Amino acid sequence: MLYKSIFDNFMHIRPEGYFLEAIDEFKKYGGTSINLVNFPENDVENNYYEHLYDRTIKTAEKVRESGINAIITIGPYPLDYFKFTNQNPVEKLKSGIDLAVKYIKNGKADVLGEIGYPHFDVEPEIYENSEKILIYAMESCKDYDIPLILHTEDLNAGKYEHIEDMAYRHYNKEKILKHHANSADFNFNKTILKSLIASRPNVKYSIESNQNFLLETDYTDQKEKPGKVMPPYSVPKRAEMIRNQYDDYDRILNKIFIEIPYKFYKKDFFLI
Ligand SMILES: [Zn+2]
Repeated sequence: MLYKSIFDNFMHIRPEGYFLEAIDEFKKYGGTSINLVNFPENDVENNYYEHLYDRTIKTAEKVRESGINAIITIGPYPLDYFKFTNQNPVEKLKSGIDLAVKYIKNGKADVLGEIGYPHFDVEPEIYENSEKILIYAMESCKDYDIPLILHTEDLNAGKYEHIEDMAYRHYNKEKILKHHANSADFNFNKTILKSLIASRPNVKYSIESNQNFLLETDYTDQKEKPGKVMPPYSVPKRAEMIRNQYDDYDRILNKIFIEIPYKFYKKDFFLI
């Protein structure tokens, strides 16, 4: 066993994709737990979010049956906006938030995400509407202390500050996490928790600048796009790299895979 806890903080696993083969690969290299995030589907017309969330929850059951712990993240993806442009996209995405919060309150899922802005340039109106949806998400999480995962474009200093300010006014910056972050972000923001893409340079830079972070592959389980995603074993591989390269690897691994995830998600399985 490489380490008692190895956690990938952001994976999309789907029955239509490599599914349990991807999980087996993660496990084979020492992975123990994942954050399973819903992945937008194209084949559902009515009650879209209900189908999507139920499907994600069923997938998590299968993941757990194969011996991997899973946290479940559900919520409307920012690009869903474009799915609903012929309806009222803001109301549609807000209804997706309402349903996700209801599921989380009932213990069916754990985290609201990924919520925020499209990761490419969009018209100002779409950006402003995305922000309204994000504020609505923050306020919806507030009453129940729900962790919230952000999906955004790459953020600069000003944009991080803007998000902090929003969190200050509408929620709590300790309860939000920026996924798909880069270690260079630490040069101008140290307060919002970051989940870094598990590349070697990201891991090295963040350890050497003594920052808190989580690691993720942002694995998108699509058979139609082979080779375009970071493979499922990447986080266990980075754990191995840490063990081989740092004398105090035990302290570092404990921080990334136990201490920080437990502080953010409060899930007992991190406390091994
Ligand atoms: Zn994302």
